This record gives sequence, C-alpha cells and structure tokens, in this order.
Amino acid sequence: MKKLEEYVRSIPDFPEKGIIFRDVTSVLQDADGLHLAINEMDKCLEGIDYDVVVGPESRGFIFGVPIAYNNHKAFVPVRKKGKLPCETISCDYDLEYGKATIEMHKDSIKPGQKVVIIDDLIATGGTTEAIIKLVEELGGVVVKVVFLMELKGLKGREKLNGYDIDAVIQYE
Ligand code: 5GP
Repeated sequence: MKKLEEYVRSIPDFPEKGIIFRDVTSVLQDADGLHLAINEMDKCLEGIDYDVVVGPESRGFIFGVPIAYNNHKAFVPVRKKGKLPCETISCDYDLEYGKATIEMHKDSIKPGQKVVIIDDLIATGGTTEAIIKLVEELGGVVVKVVFLMELKGLKGREKLNGYDIDAVIQYE
C-alpha cells in the first residue's frame, strides 16, 4: 500500500507563479488515499475531549465532516462572506495569495463548547487564525487543530502559538 504523501500531487505555479500547490484531489480520488487521510487525521484526535468540529469552505468540509461523523460530533461550517443565511459574525484576513472574509453563524457554537478545527493545509496560518478568532468570539474553546498538510517554511505554527496543532504530512 502506498504512503499517504505519495497520493498528494504537487502542481508548480498554481494558482500563481512561484507557488507549489499541494493538490488533495489526487488523495480523494483514490479509495485507499481517502481512507488513509481520514484515518491519519482522526488519529491526531485520540484522547481529545471535544464537542464540535469546525471546518472552513471548502476543503475543510471534505475532511471535517467524515471526522465529525466518525466520532459522533457536530460539524460547523465556516464560509466565505455572503453564503450563510442566518445571523453571522465575520473576520477579514490575509491569505498566502490575496485577502478574504469568512463567516460563521452566531448560534453555531455555544459558550464553553470544546472545538476542533480541521482543514486540508496550513500555509501562513492566516485562515486558521481567523477561524480561531470567530470561535473564541462565540465563546468556544479551541482544544485542537488538525491539518492533512503543513507548509513549514511559511511558519503558520508561529501565528498559532499556544494552540495544540497537528499536521499529518509536513513539507519544508
Ligand atoms: P493560510 O491561511 O494558512 O495561508 O492558507 C491555508 C488555506 O489556503 C487553506 O484553507 C488551504 O485550503 C488553502 N491553501 C493554501 N495553499 C494551499 C495548497 O498548496 N494546497 C491546498 N490544497 N490548499 C492550499
């Protein structure tokens, strides 16, 4: 059986020149790759007590929902501006390439709930930092953050200092 990292396809100069994009569609389109990815991320949560999985649009949904389902936890989506129908809170942040605004429903996390954040990849850490701000604004407590991949050179972990972070695959 192939190792998980062998399922990730690396695309040079996407979406901009100079960026090597780590593509997860090549993981998802193989039954063994998908199984390995979810299982390895799930293992990072062993021994963690939590109530809710929070994941950002769109690759955070792909990995977050099966993990929430496997562990009988709730899933809360973080969406791009203007997509959620009820009352929201929002946060602006800088991306590795560009700017964005994300939103969560105001009633999606109850004060004191223990939250796990799941996404496919950490680059600069800006997306996760923004998600943490929203979760904490709602009174949630971030107990763990799990990524499939980490681009270590962009030092996203430093931005998330003090939080419990795991990534299954590391790139220098
Ligand atoms: P950050 O906010 O940490 O700089 O960027 C992470 C966000 O951008 C994640 O939500 C992730 O999906 C997306 N992203 C940035 N670079 C890549 C990449 O090379 N591959 C994938 N799959 N996602 C990326």
